[in-house]
Amino acid sequence: MRIYPIPEVVLGVESTAHTFSLGVVENGRVVGQVGKSYNPPPGRGIHPREAADHHAKYAPALFRQLLAEYRLSPRDFDAVAYSAGPGLGPALRVGAVFARALAIKLGIPLVPVHHGIAHIEITRYVTQFCDPLVVLISGGHTAVVSFSDGRYRIFGETLDVAIGNALDTFAREVGLGFPGVPAVEKCAERATSTVEFPMPIVGQDLSFAGLVSHAVQLARGGTPLPVVCKSLVETSYYMLAEVVERALAYTGKKELAVAGGVARSNRLKTVLSAVGREHGADVKFVTDEYAGDNGAMIALTGYYAYGRHATTPGESFVRQKWRLDEVEVDWFHRLCHTPR
Ligand code: AMP
Ligand code: MG
Repeated sequence: MRIYPIPEVVLGVESTAHTFSLGVVENGRVVGQVGKSYNPPPGRGIHPREAADHHAKYAPALFRQLLAEYRLSPRDFDAVAYSAGPGLGPALRVGAVFARALAIKLGIPLVPVHHGIAHIEITRYVTQFCDPLVVLISGGHTAVVSFSDGRYRIFGETLDVAIGNALDTFAREVGLGFPGVPAVEKCAERATSTVEFPMPIVGQDLSFAGLVSHAVQLARGGTPLPVVCKSLVETSYYMLAEVVERALAYTGKKELAVAGGVARSNRLKTVLSAVGREHGADVKFVTDEYAGDNGAMIALTGYYAYGRHATTPGESFVRQKWRLDEVEVDWFHRLCHTPR
């Protein structure tokens, strides 16, 4: 077995869904990233095969762009981290094959990374929070998470679809386009009233799928679209706020961090800031550039995870379904004491 030195420069490869992105981290600092997203034709959801074709088509040019923009040579990389899941199988495999091919060519290790944990780590990095309660809200995740006993543990999650996915589906069904969350929020601004919606919360868990069907039915039945949008947005965000509130009370955490693509929502920023204030917690949101799927978060998490999780260059795996509480986060405490 080869012993690899601790990496200084890590390349990160992200390809779980719409976005193919490459990022670089040097000695624990993000250097930069490049990326390109696949947009399905209007009225259609993401097709895994088409997303994979998109990623395969643009990966080589993006790699050249990354090298040129950050004045790097392939020989500068000491390790390649890649998003191993959860995500769309065909899209994940493009990233894994790209990462593995590079690792073999350069003779450097591969580090598989959990995509959801990468969203959390980039958020800890930009907020400088040590031990926050994290609200992870993206196209694929809706979970309230905090570190305990060696892993990120889940203190509430969706039972069906993610909040971003729910709003994206509704937007698609009623012709508001993609990305759905900002489109539905914009439409909601024109409403002066709301209609009653169910609020399916089961213990600490949430269900969004039924809300979408209900909203589509109302819109098709003639309820003004802005009224449906506002009702859907407010109901979903308040459901999330309720679960976050209980998790803050239970865990007693004094930092609340919001991670993932939907963290860009201004309305949600207002709602979650109010929840944090009420519980005496400092609230911070991941910055827009690192909110959506990005290669920098994969490089960063690969850099942290390297010691325990690196594999030899020829081995790679993908896992379409992969819970984040299955991953041992042995690097967690190191970060709290390192100025970044
Ligand atoms: P991610 O899976 O982390 O890339 O996040 C994708 C989700 O972010 C999708 O559900 C989008 O609708 C949502 N999104 C994109 N832009 C925004 C925005 N400006 N505000 C809120 N959500 C957004
Ligand atoms: Mg994501």
